[in-house]
Amino acid sequence: MNIGILGGGQLGRMLIQDALKYDDEFHVLDPNPECSCAHISIFTQGNFNDKNDVFEFGKDKDVVSIEIEHVSVEGLEMLENKGVKVIPTSKIIKIIQQKILQKQFYEEHEIPSPEFQIILSKEEEIVLAFPFVQKLNTGGYDGKGVQIIKDENDLIKLWDEPSVLEKLVDIDKELSLIIAKNESGEIKTFPVTEMVADPELNLLDFNICPTQISEDVQNQIDKIADQFMKAANSEGLFALELFLDKNGKVWVNETAPRLHNSGHQTQEGNANSQFEQFYRVLKNLPLADTSHFGFSGMLNLVGEENYSGKVEYKGLENVLKLPNTYIHLYGKTDTKPGRKMGHINVLAKSREELMADLIHIKSLVKVVSTS
Ligand code: ADP
Repeated sequence: MNIGILGGGQLGRMLIQDALKYDDEFHVLDPNPECSCAHISIFTQGNFNDKNDVFEFGKDKDVVSIEIEHVSVEGLEMLENKGVKVIPTSKIIKIIQQKILQKQFYEEHEIPSPEFQIILSKEEEIVLAFPFVQKLNTGGYDGKGVQIIKDENDLIKLWDEPSVLEKLVDIDKELSLIIAKNESGEIKTFPVTEMVADPELNLLDFNICPTQISEDVQNQIDKIADQFMKAANSEGLFALELFLDKNGKVWVNETAPRLHNSGHQTQEGNANSQFEQFYRVLKNLPLADTSHFGFSGMLNLVGEENYSGKVEYKGLENVLKLPNTYIHLYGKTDTKPGRKMGHINVLAKSREELMADLIHIKSLVKVVSTS
């Protein structure tokens, strides 16, 4: 089968890595000829935000999908109109691309997401109570384009762009659920994972599975998953980023219509990885067993502050000596502050052991530059 992927980053790379054991051709469209997928796929240099590039790339493929959601929806619509299979649908990608449409989608389908107000400029009257979070409609990622407005005095910081203002949730835990659906209608979820964020960079730092949640919380999550999949009405692999608040209520923060950072520990921690699962979705194969082995965790290898240029991973030899520890690098030649360069998965017998191992491993490695 000819599989076309828009975007050549690490998510595509790990998909191809897992799927190479089967017999398919992976084609990738990305502007950067040195991207993570460039040398392990049939590569086309082009702009996945340009409708013509997307159409030209996808028109002879059996299926076209994404590993980044900021792609030309118009190009995907042109492919769908030509009869090319696009996973997930252009319709759901379009909704997820824009925070305003995404929030309205949750509201319309009664999926619990924090109370909000939409503004098109900073001149608009604000009716939402303080404190709240401003999220730009487009252009935000990895915590950029998100800021907290605490009170009246903070209003001066407000960005003058179309945004969602959202009630600040008193977060107990940030959770993530990965769900897959194939064309036959089969749906499978991975066990819920817990994300521990780095307060400075706002990049996901540790990711732990399974999380400790009550039956009631699990039931709320199952219900949200069901509501979301019915409303999205699309095959694909989705990551629901959730907040569990201090009153025990679950809210949807946002959804990614693709493979997700919070699913990386499935590579060694589960019977099958999110990448295997997504491959099966693309081919409409029976979905894979998602059960987990003991406790697993993931830490991102992120470019250190003050280092830019050719990457050097300091301390990796020490990590290689450890049992139940697995390094994944993304084939990126240059580092810069905050750039995701790789990750490390760890397996453990208990949550305590896992946390201790993750903190220890984090202290062993540094992503710096040689120059
Ligand atoms: P991005 O799309 O950049 O990942 P998110 O919307 O996920 O942005 O926000 C980044 C982080 O900001 C979240 O992981 C969470 O820690 C915090 N955050 C976002 N929205 C809220 C909210 N309504 N209440 C409290 N914290 C929030």
